[in-house]
Amino acid sequence: MSIETEETTRISDSGISRSYGAFINNEFIPIGDTSFPAFDAGTGEHLADVARCGAAEVDQAVEAARAAFPAWKAVAAEERAGLLLKLADAVEANLSRLALIDARDIGRKVGETALDHQFAINQYRYFAAAAVTHEGWGRSIPNGYLIAKREPYGVCGQIIPWNVPAIMAAFKIAPAVAAGNTVVLKPDENASLSTLELGKLIAEIFPPGVINIVPGLGEEAGAALTSHPGVNKLAFTGSSEVGRIISIAGSQRLIPVSLELGGKSPNIVFPDTDKLDAVVDNASFAALYCNGQSCLAGTRLFVHDDIYDEFMGKMVAAFKRISVGAATEESTTLSGLISEEQGIRVLGYIEKGLAEGAKLLTGGKRVTVPGHEHGYFIEPTIFEATNDMAIAQEEIFGPVLTVIRWNDFDQMIEEANDIRYGLAAGVYTSNLKNAMATADRLEAGSVWINSYFNLASGSPFGGFKESGIGSEYCHETLNMYTHLKSITVQNEPSEA
Ligand code: NAD
Repeated sequence: MSIETEETTRISDSGISRSYGAFINNEFIPIGDTSFPAFDAGTGEHLADVARCGAAEVDQAVEAARAAFPAWKAVAAEERAGLLLKLADAVEANLSRLALIDARDIGRKVGETALDHQFAINQYRYFAAAAVTHEGWGRSIPNGYLIAKREPYGVCGQIIPWNVPAIMAAFKIAPAVAAGNTVVLKPDENASLSTLELGKLIAEIFPPGVINIVPGLGEEAGAALTSHPGVNKLAFTGSSEVGRIISIAGSQRLIPVSLELGGKSPNIVFPDTDKLDAVVDNASFAALYCNGQSCLAGTRLFVHDDIYDEFMGKMVAAFKRISVGAATEESTTLSGLISEEQGIRVLGYIEKGLAEGAKLLTGGKRVTVPGHEHGYFIEPTIFEATNDMAIAQEEIFGPVLTVIRWNDFDQMIEEANDIRYGLAAGVYTSNLKNAMATADRLEAGSVWINSYFNLASGSPFGGFKESGIGSEYCHETLNMYTHLKSITVQNEPSEA
C-alpha cells in the first residue's frame, strides 16, 4: 500500500480536531474541564485535547444507547448490513488520513497503520455479510413447532487497548451492531484519536445513539462502564490483569463478558523447513509487527538444533538490517514504542534477560532518532534463552525476541505449552504430518502453518488459558453478542 510522503507528515491536513468531547447520540459533547492531551508519540507535538470522561458522561452514553436499542433491534438485518458497508466505504475513503493520525498518535509506522485500517474495513464488510446470514433454526414437534432465535443483548460496553486502535474498534463495533446491539466504546487513553475520528464517520451513517464513544482513563471511564447497571454485555481487549477485573465486574452483575487478552506465542521451526529465508522474514514479522506491541506476537521462537546455527545466523543478520526510525518515514522498518513508560519497561526486561543469563545475540539498546527525541526507540533485540526465564514467560510488548533451541518433539511441545497464555502459534515444516500433530497439541486459539498473522476474514480469533474467553472475527462472534431464545408453539392447548 503506498502512502504519499507529504501526506504522512502534515497532521494539519489530516482533518484532526483540536479537541474531542465524548461522542454521544452522534454528537461530540463539549469538552469539559477535565481533559487529557494527545501527543505525537515521536515528536511530542501536542495534537489535541481529549475529554477525560467519568461516570456522568458514561451515564449519558449508556442512556443514549439504551434509548436507541429498541428501534435499532427492529431494523432489518439487510439495513444494518448496508450501514456497515457504508462505514467500510467511509473508512476506505479516509484511509490515508486515519493511518496518519494513528502513526502520529501511537508512533507506529504509517504503512502498518494503513494496513490496520484496511483490516478494519474488512471487518465491517465481513460482519455486514454475517448480519444477514446469522440465523436461528426451527423444527416441527408433536402438535407444533420449536423455534430457536437469536436476540441482541442490548447495550454493549466495550473497552479496547492502544496498540491497534483501528482493528480493535472494528472488532468490537462490527459484530455488536451487526447483531442488533447498541454500543458504548471506550478507547485507550494513549490512542483515542482515530476512534474519535471514526465517530465523525459514524455520525453520517448510523442513527443517533447506536454507537457512542467515551474516551477516558481505565479506572474512571472504564470502571464506570464496567459497573454500569444499564450495560447488558461487556467486551474487553487488553491485558490479562485488567481482563480479570472486568470479568469480576461482569460476574457480579451476572452479565456475559468476552475477553481478548495477552499472549506470548510460540513460533516453531522444524529442521525440514523449506525456504529458510522466507521463514526468517516470517519470524521477524511475527516478532516485530506493531514494534512487538502485539498480543499475537510470535515472541518465543523454537528453532531445531539441526538448523539452529544456519537459521539464527540469518535471523540475526535480518534484525541487524532493520532501520529504526520515525513512524512517518517510509524508509523506517521499525518505529518507536507507545510511551516512555513502555520503553523503560522493555529495557527493564532486557536487563532482566541479561541478569538471568540469557545470551544477547543482537540489539538491546535505546536508539535516538533526530527530531523524534520524545519517542522511545529500541533496537530489534534477540536473546537465546530457556523457556523458564522471565523473558520467555512474560509479555514484554516490545521488539524483543526470545529464541529457544529444541531437539525432542515431545519436550518442545511441553515447553511451548508451558506458559499461562494460549493466544496463537506458528509452525514451519514441509511435513504436513508434523504440522498437524503439532497444531493438535498446541494450547493456542490460532495456529498458523507456514505463515504468521495469517488472519483471513472469518478466522476464529480468541485465546486459550489466560489469553481470553470467546472468539472474535468470525461468524461465531455473533453468538457472543446474542441470547438464544426458544419459542415453543403448540397448535392448540392439550390437556395436561
Ligand atoms: P490494559 O489492560 O492496560 O488497558 C486496556 C484498556 O483497559 C484501556 O482502554 C484501559 O483504559 C482500560 N482499563 C484499564 N484499567 C481498567 C479498569 N480498572 N477498568 C476498566 N477498564 C480499564 O492493556 P494495554 O496495556 O492498553 O494493552 C496491552 C495489552 O492488551 C497486552 O496485554 C496485549 O496482549 C493485550 N491485547 C490483546 C489483544 C487480543 O486480541 N487478545 C489485542 C490487543 C492487545
